[in-house]
Amino acid sequence: MAGQARGKVTVDVEECKGCGLCVECCPPKCLELEPELNAYGAHPAHYTGQCCTGCGICFYCCPEPGAITVYRLKAKPKAAAPVEEVEHAAAL
Ligand code: SF4
Ligand code: SF4
Repeated sequence: MAGQARGKVTVDVEECKGCGLCVECCPPKCLELEPELNAYGAHPAHYTGQCCTGCGICFYCCPEPGAITVYRLKAKPKAAAPVEEVEHAAAL
C-alpha cells in the first residue's frame, strides 16, 4: 500500500525470534522477515522503510519485549496562511 510514512520501526534482530506475528498484523504490510539468520537461527523482522503509520500494532502483538520499537514522526507544521492586505475605502 502506498502512502507517506507517519512512523517508523526498528527491530532488535537479536531479540526477535522470527515468529512473523508483526509481519502478519501490520495493516500496510510494511514489515517482512529477513532472509538472513540471527544468532538464534531465526529470520528477524525488518521494516521495509515505507508506509509505516506508527500505529503500534506490531509492538502490541510482539511476544518479545524490546524487539520492536515504534516511532511516530512529527507532522510538519502547516505553512502560515498568506496575509492578505485589504484596503478599505474611507467611510463617507
Ligand atoms: S507501527 Fe503499524 S504500520 Fe508501522 S510497522 Fe508497526 S504495525 Fe506496521
Ligand atoms: S512479532 Fe516480535 S518476535 Fe515475532 S517476528 Fe515480529 S519482532 Fe520478531
